[in-house]
Amino acid sequence: MAVMVVMYRAGKASNMTSMIIMALMPPKTPPKELSSLLLLLTRTVVTARAMMFAICMAFLSIAPDFGYAALTTQDRETQVLERMIADNPQAALKESEAWLAQGNKAADKALKLKAMRLMVMAVAALEESRNLAKQAELGLMLAREMKDAQAETEFLSAKASALASDGKYLDAQPIFDEAIRVAEQASLNRAVAGVMVSKAFVYGLLGRDMDSLDMLFKAHQRYMELGDMVAARATLSAIGNAYAHDHASRDDLLKALNYHEQSIEQDSEKNRRHDLSTVYFNIGVVYQRLKDITKAKLYIQKSMALLNALEDPVGEAFGNYRLGMLAGEIGQWSESLSYQDKALPVLMRSGDATMIFNVQRARAKAFAFLDRRRDSLDALARANAIRSGIDSFWIEVTYLSAAAEIYSRLGDYEKAYRHQALLRDSEQQSFKESRDKEATEMQTRFEVTQKEAENELLRAHERESEARRLALVLAVILLLLLLGGLSWFLFRQGQQKRRFASLAMRDDLTTLPNRRSIIEFTQTQLRAMRSDNQTLCVALVDIDHFKAINDECGHAVGDAVLAAFAFACAQQLRSDDRLGRYGGEEFMLVMPGSGVEQIPQVFARLRAKVQKIAVEGLQADRHITFSMGATTASMADDLDKLTKRADDALYRAKHGGRDRFELG
Ligand code: GH3
Ligand code: MG
Ligand code: MG
Repeated sequence: MAVMVVMYRAGKASNMTSMIIMALMPPKTPPKELSSLLLLLTRTVVTARAMMFAICMAFLSIAPDFGYAALTTQDRETQVLERMIADNPQAALKESEAWLAQGNKAADKALKLKAMRLMVMAVAALEESRNLAKQAELGLMLAREMKDAQAETEFLSAKASALASDGKYLDAQPIFDEAIRVAEQASLNRAVAGVMVSKAFVYGLLGRDMDSLDMLFKAHQRYMELGDMVAARATLSAIGNAYAHDHASRDDLLKALNYHEQSIEQDSEKNRRHDLSTVYFNIGVVYQRLKDITKAKLYIQKSMALLNALEDPVGEAFGNYRLGMLAGEIGQWSESLSYQDKALPVLMRSGDATMIFNVQRARAKAFAFLDRRRDSLDALARANAIRSGIDSFWIEVTYLSAAAEIYSRLGDYEKAYRHQALLRDSEQQSFKESRDKEATEMQTRFEVTQKEAENELLRAHERESEARRLALVLAVILLLLLLGGLSWFLFRQGQQKRRFASLAMRDDLTTLPNRRSIIEFTQTQLRAMRSDNQTLCVALVDIDHFKAINDECGHAVGDAVLAAFAFACAQQLRSDDRLGRYGGEEFMLVMPGSGVEQIPQVFARLRAKVQKIAVEGLQADRHITFSMGATTASMADDLDKLTKRADDALYRAKHGGRDRFELG
């Protein structure tokens, strides 16, 4: 339906096609069993022919004589090409071939691209659908190489149109979408709108009338935005045609009339007669659908009057064919025949095979209803002869349906039945194909959805195990941290404990074992001595006249002397020996494995060191001395006995004059 727009804009040639399409509209009262097929036929025959012109739309036709705001250089070039097609597609094709040869010779890619654009347009206009797909494909490669979005859009659209005219509507859809995407990306607004109209046309063929209308309204919106009132009005006319779809209700048909009327510019001076004739024609067709044959006839005649003024005999012939069909609808078969007879010679001269086929078919039917058997069979034979020259499935089906009806009317039931059977086969085949295609598409969609669901599930699993892994890692880290913390805590605690323990066992001032510690050590060594039968020597050491140091030099100096004394003595001891602070300035020396016989030597060594002690605040000539009482442990000794003997010996050493040792 949308193709009307194209015709509206492409001038003369398109007017013809529009007539053809109208001519192929479903007859008013088809035999019941044929009605559904006829609907299909209408769609599909329309496809084959009109699709070619829809391509011109896809080429984003420029309204030739009307300037508008957003006409780009590209649009202008397109316009020139469009004009060439509109004037003479055959000549344009020749020209394109010449350009292509020239472009090839000069290795001029731009010229080659232009040549291919013109060629594809010409091929489309000349309705060579098979060539079109191939040409579009070739052009597409070059357009992409040249990064020419306008050309790419055109070729994509042409490819989609070629597919659609081959009945591959579902394959055409994504290609139209791609064309729209390409044009949209390059901001080729005109191109976008054009592809939308072509796509709307294919939606119409698929019976998706709502989608078709939606597309057309969008395209109309675009044209309005572009300020292209001519294209906008043409789109309104296309909307009118879309409303007059096969299953249109009376309401829809009234809407169709309304849109057609809107598409006529108010100022009649501005209306181009070709455009107006198309709209009148369309209105006539809608009235036919509304079963108002009088008005239908009136509008077709209005259209024809304009064509007559334009000296367009072919256009008039289309009108006559249409009037013939209208007369047939109300049973005026002789009138119908006379219209067809008027149309036939003009069409014969123009050489339009499809139209000649249509007129012969209409004549055969009229003859049949006038009971002119021989003439009817003759016209049918002529239609059949032309049909076999046109390689079109849908012309074939149209022929079969007409033949069945005509034979039936002529009482030749056997032949009618045979044609009917062939027709049904074709019909079934066609419906089967489209059903199969839809089924395949649905299955693909189903599979894709299923795969997506599966993938989503997989992703969910992945996420879950990822989360689990992460949780595990976190748990391990946490555990390690806890363990680390715990061991650190335990270690610190042990350290603390050891420190406390050592603090408890050590004397702060001298860092020697304190009294408790040295006593414990002595007891341990006593036990060891008893069990291992070893010797043990214990000595008490007391600094001489320490009180005097305190008194004379101060307590702090006394402390320093104590520390220096402890350090000097501890240095002189073997590793097994141990010195502890027993009290005030008194120390206990424990020497496992030794006896008192070693004391003189030990005393001398300690004395030599202690003598040298120098402490700040202590007079330099003041030598520190000490007294020592030592004893060797015996098996009978306990701590008390042992220390008592040592203490006694110390006492004697003090009394003996100090700075000496005594053994006990
Ligand atoms: P002797 O030769 O008879 O041992 O005479 P001494 O003065 O050394 O003996 P005495 O027992 O009369 O005096 C010991 C003094 O040691 C008494 C006390 O004030 C002092 N003293 C005890 N502990 C410390 C200490 O930790 N630091 C200091 N500076 N003095 C201490
Ligand atoms: Mg003392
Ligand atoms: Mg003392």
